[in-house]
Amino acid sequence: MKKKFGKVAIALATLLVIAGCGNSNGQSNESKTVEGTGAGKHGDIKVAVTFAGEKIKDIKIKDQKENEVLSEPVYKELKNTILSQNSADVDVISGSTATSEGYLAAVKDAIEKSGITLAAVKASAKKTDKIADKQEYDVVVVGSGGAGFSAAIEAQEAGKKVVIIEKMPTVGGNTLISGGEMNAPGNWVQKKLGIKGDSVESYYEDTMKGGDNLGDPKMVRILAENALNSAEWLKDEVKVDFLDDQLFQFGGHSYKRALIPVGHTGQEVISKLKKKAESLKVDILVDTKADELIQDDKGKVTGVKATYKEEQPVEFHAKDAVVLTTGGFGSNVEMRKEYNPEYDERYMSTDTEGTTGDGIVMAEKAGAALTNMESIQTYPVANPKTGVISLLADTRFDGAILINQEGQRFVEELERRDVISKAILAQTGGYTYQLWNDDIDAISKTKEAHEDEYNELIKDKLLVKADTLEEAADFFDINVANLKKTIEKVNAYAKSGDDKDFHHRGGLVSLEKGPYYIEKAIPSVHHTMGGLVINENTEVLDAKGNPIKGLYAAGELTGVIQGSNRLGGNAITDIITFGRIAGKTTGEL
Ligand code: ADP
Repeated sequence: MKKKFGKVAIALATLLVIAGCGNSNGQSNESKTVEGTGAGKHGDIKVAVTFAGEKIKDIKIKDQKENEVLSEPVYKELKNTILSQNSADVDVISGSTATSEGYLAAVKDAIEKSGITLAAVKASAKKTDKIADKQEYDVVVVGSGGAGFSAAIEAQEAGKKVVIIEKMPTVGGNTLISGGEMNAPGNWVQKKLGIKGDSVESYYEDTMKGGDNLGDPKMVRILAENALNSAEWLKDEVKVDFLDDQLFQFGGHSYKRALIPVGHTGQEVISKLKKKAESLKVDILVDTKADELIQDDKGKVTGVKATYKEEQPVEFHAKDAVVLTTGGFGSNVEMRKEYNPEYDERYMSTDTEGTTGDGIVMAEKAGAALTNMESIQTYPVANPKTGVISLLADTRFDGAILINQEGQRFVEELERRDVISKAILAQTGGYTYQLWNDDIDAISKTKEAHEDEYNELIKDKLLVKADTLEEAADFFDINVANLKKTIEKVNAYAKSGDDKDFHHRGGLVSLEKGPYYIEKAIPSVHHTMGGLVINENTEVLDAKGNPIKGLYAAGELTGVIQGSNRLGGNAITDIITFGRIAGKTTGEL
């Protein structure tokens, strides 16, 4: 949940508190507090900077709406750097760039308003706080996304001493920035909404078919059979809040079966997993990058060589097991090209910068077999400027349509992601427009859930809201005459319940009433389906199919579940289910 600091009821931007003047050196040590504002990722960040003479003494947050997990190191570590260097000209926290920039801009704004020339501080050699060079644990988990946290929680609950090491300054990985939706057939919201007929079998079949039957049937069955239990575990044990009156039907699914966490993002999932892990006293070390697996002379994995804060080599010894949960390789263009030259620099990615395939590379060096590496998925509807996934466009799951520059539909909007992406790339300019109205938004509620994205897209002229179709189409120079014909057909198909053109499996929704929203979008690399071969106990297998002793894996870096194409809402089900299995299995060693 996003934490909001209370709005400051002070109209004056500048608050001046004079606490004293002059010191024994003749320098002024006058204390004053000045407010400043900067644009963060989710709106303005307001700070109050306290100065003593020419030095910054303190920075307090007055108002902000940033991602709770990603902003944590900004408001702690970046603040300390500013205080120690007496300057806001410092490096941003990687992985939290937009929040860092907003925070620094706010501090700079306050400095400028104060009129103070800050005293230069002697540059001190960069000092890294040290941790023990050699650390002993029962289970070492590498990567702090949903899979890593689930594994760590289960293993610690089973009595093991567990550490999670995470290379970025913040936890969460792609899980944090995802929509957080989770497929679970037979779930409690389906019951409440009267959705009947869904089953483990139907979910299994959709997932197998969605991946062109390339997933391992045994593993997909485990996914399907455990999906509901994994969702209940998140709800009851981890206390993740899911909406109790709304579900998504992602492309390729036969039913509305995806639970939606409050806020429609993975922030709810990760912040609750983190709380649970902390309450169990799992050690969590950020800024700690695993570089290499340690193996004994029989090949058993006994630990991890890592680097703490880019400087200090640290060895984590694992008495029982190392669990790799480092995610996919969507942000590693070289690795993408190595396995599928199609996905080169032309494609942006929806992924976090830590998604570079490290676990796959480390395990391969230790003898692990890889599978399905060429299967790379693009998300069809992403921001054409940044490549970031458009969660606002989740209206597609409730009836929004996709059109091209010519104003025509060209694909079933609930098709698989790969099919839609290919169809988009074949259109004029290689992009699409998504169109919906308020009737659809009333079901999806994405405008409310993703207000910041909405405002950003409007500002960047990638989204228009207009009362009439003509006006909306005109904004993007879309062929109006064709568009009108398209909408007439959609309205007729919505009434008859029969989409004669593309057989929309969710049923089209009438677009008779404005206002209309049209958003421009492109496909962006989103998920890498390939990776390590694991068995039902999440043991990592070598080329002969034998387990590599001491090595386990779960989540996006495994390659045996999603086949050639992952269906929407299946990542969270996968990472929680197999993350927990990894934790339970290693917990019993
Ligand atoms: P999953 O969905 O499989 O749980 P995520 O992408 O959510 O995967 O999380 C993977 C996490 O692993 C990310 O936070 C990423 O920064 C982290 N990670 C990747 N490589 C390393 C590494 N070499 N050492 C430590 N952490 C890593």
